[in-house]
Amino acid sequence: MLELDGLSATPKVEKGMTPGLVCAHHHLYSTLARGMPTPPRTPRGFTEILDLVWWRLDRALDLESIRWSAMLGAVEALERGCTAIVDHHESPNAIEGSLDVISEACAEVGIRVSCSYGITDRHGFDGAQQGLAENERYLRAGGHGMVGIHAAFTCSDDSLETAAGLAADLGVGVHVHVAEGPVDAGAADRLRSLASENWLLIHGVHLEGDHGLAGTMVHNPRSNMNNSVGYARPARFANPMALGTDGIGADMLEEFRLAYARHREEDVTASPEVAWGWLAGGWNVFPEARKDRVTWNYDDMDPWRLAFTTGVAPRTVEVDGVVVLSDGQPTRVDAGEVRARASEEALRLHRRLDEI
Ligand SMILES: [Zn+2]
Repeated sequence: MLELDGLSATPKVEKGMTPGLVCAHHHLYSTLARGMPTPPRTPRGFTEILDLVWWRLDRALDLESIRWSAMLGAVEALERGCTAIVDHHESPNAIEGSLDVISEACAEVGIRVSCSYGITDRHGFDGAQQGLAENERYLRAGGHGMVGIHAAFTCSDDSLETAAGLAADLGVGVHVHVAEGPVDAGAADRLRSLASENWLLIHGVHLEGDHGLAGTMVHNPRSNMNNSVGYARPARFANPMALGTDGIGADMLEEFRLAYARHREEDVTASPEVAWGWLAGGWNVFPEARKDRVTWNYDDMDPWRLAFTTGVAPRTVEVDGVVVLSDGQPTRVDAGEVRARASEEALRLHRRLDEI
């Protein structure tokens, strides 16, 4: 933790401690995807991965599977010292109330979450309206979150403008995938006049360096590699940066190491301090996490050591002064029970997927 040294008034870092880590882009609904039935054929690119994997999974979700997916995802985040998740959700057959389910699951485990429902015109005008209504309902009721947009390429200009207008009215930003694959390369031109500094722009792989979009850019190195969409080269962007996982857990030290390794592969002069700066950008996206305290099983929490040290784990996590992880175990829920219940729910979900 940063604190002032009384003699020199210079900041010092307390050994083995950090604030709570932030995952600036997650999909808690994807936690139960592991082990899902194989798609009808091997996806050959980004749009086929969406079509054959994720857009089948999201249609199979109901509120119960969303709940246990979020519970397991929240437990896994806490076990890796991540106390704040910026979540982006879609469940076209269970929209209303879905953001409450995610928010309540995270509260039960004891971590923070910012929720948004990713609106899309993939399911027609009514589908987009229901998504907008869920964002509005949740936020007007006092929920912590943003207005979500899936991506420009699955939305009409009307839907983009309505979502941006709703966010402005409610005083929150928009959380949107931007130019993740070539299919969305035109996103900047469609979003430029709408975006503002409180927006979260996810991926940016196929953006020009001078794209002119206001907002924080969130880099998700493992997901980008997994989807074979290319390297975002985030060092070229002038925007503030943060790191996310895009739904593949919430181990942010691991994501930092991946961000550094991918940066270094591109540029042999790259320092881990750059990727550490991206990770630290999460505290600007979710400032409350600065108040959380993580005590690690490793003293030297600095980028040059952590870039080359795997398996660093939290011993104790405090969120808002409350111990929510002790001796590596969540204190508010039984992690074994959550895993058992989540695996039962995963079986139900996977059976439904077989029918889609
Ligand atoms: Zn995503």
